[in-house]
Amino acid sequence: METTATQTIDVVNPITLEKLYHIEETSQEKVDQIFKTAREVQPKIEDMSVEQRVNEVLKIRDYIIENREAILTRIIQETGKSRVDGMTSEVFEIIDVIDVFRKLTPKVLKSKSVATPIVLVGKKSEVWYEPLGTILVIPPWNYPLYQALVPSIMAFLSGNSVVVKPSEVTPLQGLIEEIIDKSGFMKNAIQVAYGSGITGVKLIDAQPDKIHFTGSCKTGKKIMAQASQYLIPVDLELGGKDAAIVFDDINIERTVNGIMWGGYTTGGQSCTSVERCYVQEGIYDKFVEMIVDRSKKLRPSHANRNIEDPEDCDVGTVTTEFQVKIIEDHIKDAVEKGAKVLCGGSRESNTRHFPPTVIVDVTHDMKIMIDETFGPVIPVMKFKTEEEAIRLANDSEYGLGGSVWSKNLTRARRVAGKIKTGNLSINNHMLNEGNPNLPFGGTKNSGFGRYKGDLGLYTFSNAKSVLVDKDSSNIDPNWYPFTKTKYTLLSQIIDHLFSRKKNLIKFALVGLKINSIGKKEKLN
Ligand code: NAD
Repeated sequence: METTATQTIDVVNPITLEKLYHIEETSQEKVDQIFKTAREVQPKIEDMSVEQRVNEVLKIRDYIIENREAILTRIIQETGKSRVDGMTSEVFEIIDVIDVFRKLTPKVLKSKSVATPIVLVGKKSEVWYEPLGTILVIPPWNYPLYQALVPSIMAFLSGNSVVVKPSEVTPLQGLIEEIIDKSGFMKNAIQVAYGSGITGVKLIDAQPDKIHFTGSCKTGKKIMAQASQYLIPVDLELGGKDAAIVFDDINIERTVNGIMWGGYTTGGQSCTSVERCYVQEGIYDKFVEMIVDRSKKLRPSHANRNIEDPEDCDVGTVTTEFQVKIIEDHIKDAVEKGAKVLCGGSRESNTRHFPPTVIVDVTHDMKIMIDETFGPVIPVMKFKTEEEAIRLANDSEYGLGGSVWSKNLTRARRVAGKIKTGNLSINNHMLNEGNPNLPFGGTKNSGFGRYKGDLGLYTFSNAKSVLVDKDSSNIDPNWYPFTKTKYTLLSQIIDHLFSRKKNLIKFALVGLKINSIGKKEKLN
C-alpha cells in the first residue's frame, strides 16, 4: 500500500509484491452524497419488520455460499492468507454469524416487559429496541471481509443504514458492492467509501450516529477524540497481547497443536493470536521441544504459492511491509536482551514470507512480551505456580483474549476468572470467537463495547425505556399539591417497604391512604 500526492493508494499482492490496482480517497462531495443517501434509506429499513431484514441478510449468505471460492481468492490476493485460514475465518465465519443471527435477532430485538415495583402499582414497564440511524463501520486489514460485513450486518439487522470504509491496505475494491448488488440485497442500505484515514476523518465529520471501529489502539484514540466533538458513541475493538497459560497436567500433543494454530493462523495477524505462551515448569522442556519440532514441519508462505490450492502453505504471508518490520524489530530487541530463536526468526529475503518462529528465554522487559507483534511468532516463558501465571498474564496494557490449558477444569475456570480480558477460551484458543452467540470485545487498551451475541444487536440500538400508565381521575401521590400528610405517608413507605423492619400489612394500609388522598387532594 503506497499513497501518492494525488491521493491514490496502490493495493499490492503481499505474496508476489505485484501491484493489483489502486484506490482513491473518497471526495468530500461523494462523502456528502453517501450520507445523504444513507439518511434517506434508513427510515425504510426502520419500517421493515425484523423478519424482513433477516430475509435481506440471507441473500448475502446465499451469494457468499454460492461464490465462496472466487471470494476467497480475492481475499487471499490482498491478504496472503492460507486458503484454509481464509475459508475458516472469513467465509465460514460470516455464514455462521448470519445463520446464528437469523434465529437470534427476532428474539433479541423484541420489545421486553420488565418488572414494575409495587409502589408503581397499575403501571407497566417495557424496553423497546430502536435503530440509532446511520452507522459508520471502520475495519482493519487483517480480516477485510469479515470485519467489514459482520458489524455492518448487525447494524442493518438492528434497523440502521451503514457506511463502511474498508482498510486501504486490503480494500477488496468492488467486492462488497458485488455481493450486495448481485445477491439482490436492499439497495443503499450498506454503502462503501474507499480510502485511508483521510477519508475516515471526513466520514466522522459527516456525523454518523455511531462508529464501530476495529483496528489499532493508536487510531482508536484518534477516532474517539474526533467523535467526542460531536458526542458520537464509539465501539473500539483494538489490539491485543493474548497470553496462553499451559499447566503441566495437559495432553502435550493436543496443546502444542492448539497453541501453534492460535499463534500462526492468519500468519499470526489476528487480534486474539497467541502472543505470549506461559508453560509450567514440569512440562516446559518437553513442550518447547515439541513446538519447535512441529513448527519446523509447517509449510510457510513462499513466493511460488498456488493460492487456489488449500495445501500450498499452512502459515500465510505477512500482509504488510510495516508489519514485517515490527516483527523483525521485536525479535531483534528480544535477541539483544538475551532471548534465543529456536526456529524461524527471519523472513525470506525481499519478501513478506515469514516462517513460524519460536523464541525462548524471553522476559517482560522485551517488546516481544509487551507490544503487539502481530506475526507468526510464539515466545515461550516458564512459570512455576498458578499465582505466577496469573500475574504474568495480567502484566499487560492489553486485555482482549487469552487461554488457559489444564485437564483440571476447576483450576482452569478459577484461573480464567482472574485474567483481565474481554474473551477467554479454556483448552482452546480464540474459540469463543467461533461462537457468534458470545459477545466479543476487549478491556484495558484493547478497547470497549461488545459485538456479536445479544450485545451485538444492542450496541446498534437505542434501548428506549417506556412506562405505560392508565388515564384515570386520580393523581399520583408525588404530584402537587405537596402536603405534610403526603410527606409523612411517603416517609412511612420507606419504613414499611424497604427497611429491615418492613411490614407489608402496614405498607398496604399506607398505600390505601395515599390512594384516597390522590382522589381528594388535587389542584383545581
Ligand atoms: P489501523 O488502526 O491502522 O487502521 C484501521 C482502520 O482505521 C483502517 O480502515 C484505516 O484506514 C482507518 N483509519 C486510520 N486512521 C484513521 C482516522 N484518523 N480516522 C478514521 N479512520 C482511520 O489498524 P490496522 O493496522 O488496519 O489493523 C490492525 C490492528 O487491528 C491490530 O492492532 C489488531 O489487533 C486490531 N484488530 C482488532 C480486532 C478486534 O476485534 N479487537 C480485530 C482485528 C484487528
